Amino acid sequence: MPAAQDLVRIREVGPRDGFQNEPEVIDTADKVRLVEMLARTGLRRLEVTSFVRADVIPQLADGPEVLREAEIPDDVAVSVLVPNERGLDDALALRERFSDINVFLSASETHNRENVNRSVAESLTGLEAVIAQAREEGLRCEGVISVAFGCPYEGEVPPAAVFAIAERLVAAGCEEIAFGDTTGMANPAQVREFFGEAFERLGGVELTAHFHNTRGQGLANAFAALEAGVRSFEASFGELGGCPVPRGATGNVATEDLVSMLHEMGHPTEIDLPALLDCAREAQRLLGRPLGSHLLSAGPVVWHGRGASPPGLTFPTGCTGNT
Ligand code: ZN
Repeated sequence: MPAAQDLVRIREVGPRDGFQNEPEVIDTADKVRLVEMLARTGLRRLEVTSFVRADVIPQLADGPEVLREAEIPDDVAVSVLVPNERGLDDALALRERFSDINVFLSASETHNRENVNRSVAESLTGLEAVIAQAREEGLRCEGVISVAFGCPYEGEVPPAAVFAIAERLVAAGCEEIAFGDTTGMANPAQVREFFGEAFERLGGVELTAHFHNTRGQGLANAFAALEAGVRSFEASFGELGGCPVPRGATGNVATEDLVSMLHEMGHPTEIDLPALLDCAREAQRLLGRPLGSHLLSAGPVVWHGRGASPPGLTFPTGCTGNT
């Protein structure tokens, strides 16, 4: 048995980071049902939607309906992504339906322009106003910094620049900063070093890791972050999500893959893994294509007694070349 370890907090971001990257728009009723299923898995943090312009992200045009209709237990912190002042005004029409907002910008100038059509300095000024207003409304604020580990347009992103942005967001009132590897450029050694420094620079703030599995290194990066002391992650059920750059990129780390790794290592999450897997299975059924999640293919780890074969798992006759 692994030693008992610290509780790890996970924010499920699939209904936002995932659904917004699906080529087809998922029916509102199906979104509501998936959100309600997720909210009953033991997840304590759930990003339900975003308040971006419907003409820019039509996949989330029904965000207000989903937020209004989904029945979510009180012990789940509901967050919404807010891009700017106007997004916050729209969100505040449903103020009683959520407790947290996520504001975001990119660590690189080019990605920020591509993503929100502002310079980093303009974004920071705008977000400071958003955070101030949100705090007056009693909302908890998370700042998400995209392409924090590398930018598909500019390449290397100096950690000092990322931390300087984080410090501005903290000074404005963010209680949590998430660092996004938006296009999957990070590697575990980089992640370990990055968070080692981040904890020194940003003491007292909750630091969250948000990895995409674009190049298959999502879980390795999550492990490196965990070793560096990170106890807060964002992930997406089914490995939904992605980013338009590079084209065809796969999604966020699958929440169920991350939860499985954490549980196998002895880190509790309070999440019911089979229930979470049911959510991913349902998303896969609705979308009608295989999703990237490894647990969806392989199922949870089952430890059998010595000598016993797991039921239903037999090698094909004559197959001896497996290593
Ligand atoms: Zn993401």
